[in-house]
Amino acid sequence: MTVFDRLKRLLGSPDAPTSHSEEDGRGSGACKPISCMEAMARLQEYLDRELDEVSHQEAAHHFSMCQKCFPHLKLEERFRDLLHHSQEGEVCPDHLKEQVLELLAAEGGEPREGKERPPPA
Ligand SMILES: [Zn+2]
Repeated sequence: MTVFDRLKRLLGSPDAPTSHSEEDGRGSGACKPISCMEAMARLQEYLDRELDEVSHQEAAHHFSMCQKCFPHLKLEERFRDLLHHSQEGEVCPDHLKEQVLELLAAEGGEPREGKERPPPA
């Protein structure tokens, strides 16, 4: 099982990106590809539904296609959801986030917490 699959399970998202796309047959141009950086920059507004139609579609398209950005979207989505419900005191968003970040770190091969970092200047 890939990290991506584990993430999907962890976050309980049924709407995983697939190879299916709407590009075939449809008129192109409405959805220009955006970079991961752009997608990440739009993430908050995307979830807040504050983007205009085109920008929203572009972001949605990217998130559905990009396995790198998709987990971030689902994480943020899930995190917001948990925060929203955290008043009930039954969930622990920090724990979930930790798990997800751990998976992402494993996937990206990035150093785990605990590694020494130079203090900010
Ligand atoms: Zn991306």
